[in-house]
Amino acid sequence: MTENERRLNELLTELHNDYLETSAAMSDKVARDVASTRLQVVDLVEEYANKDDTINRTRVNTLLRDLEDIEREIRSITESSLNRAMVDSAEIGYADAFTAFQKALGLSADFVLTAKVAESVVLPTLTGKSPSPRNLAQYLAQRTGPDGLTLSDRVWQFAGEQRAEMGNVLRRGIIRGDTTAKMVREIRGVYETESWKARRLAITESNTAYRTAIGYTAEKSKFVSALRLIPGRKQSEKCVSKAAEDRHGLGAGIFLPSDTDIFSIHPNCTAYTQYILSEEVR
Ligand SMILES: [Zn+2]
Repeated sequence: MTENERRLNELLTELHNDYLETSAAMSDKVARDVASTRLQVVDLVEEYANKDDTINRTRVNTLLRDLEDIEREIRSITESSLNRAMVDSAEIGYADAFTAFQKALGLSADFVLTAKVAESVVLPTLTGKSPSPRNLAQYLAQRTGPDGLTLSDRVWQFAGEQRAEMGNVLRRGIIRGDTTAKMVREIRGVYETESWKARRLAITESNTAYRTAIGYTAEKSKFVSALRLIPGRKQSEKCVSKAAEDRHGLGAGIFLPSDTDIFSIHPNCTAYTQYILSEEVR
């Protein structure tokens, strides 16, 4: 590693550490947004309550159908909250890459954002458009991920599972003749146990947006010849074994910006990439 590379990558590591704190805060925000729908469930349960605070068994099916409106609400809140986190993360990713270039090498890389996307493997569907954080997030949301799903499929799955859990709790409570207060408590429990899924979605998607912005900057900058993958904090097996791979004979963990699989290795991944500089700036 040359002196220039060492300085540049120290900065990238530092900035990425700061970003991880921001991304944790973003995932808390997504989880809070999802949690805000709980009051609607409480209202719904109270709407169905008799004077003795139980719910008639004959009404269980209509109540469960009404839960579908709340599922839709969870879906739409989750999608817009995730989108915000992804746009913000892409923005920070670009800013971090530009800052590192500027501070370590005295080079400006801002042209990456002002030029329209032309023949990009990192952002393949944005040809002719701006690589803005908003467009980058939209590209990521619409593409089919390594799990064979789009972001919206993942959000539907999440909201559907949460609705199913709430449905189970309410059906059981109504049949047992529980009070609405007890059912409301159990609904709170469902929100608490399911909130890790909202956090996981947020961390996964925002970190992917961050890495994609860093990767796109590498693809467009003639100063970068390759990326070095640094496994995430948890040193998960998938991450560590990917970082040990020598895909191009350039050394272990050295990839090209076109190796887009390294931008989303597994859910909750906190891996990041450093830059290998091209000859002229080494
Ligand atoms: Zn990882």
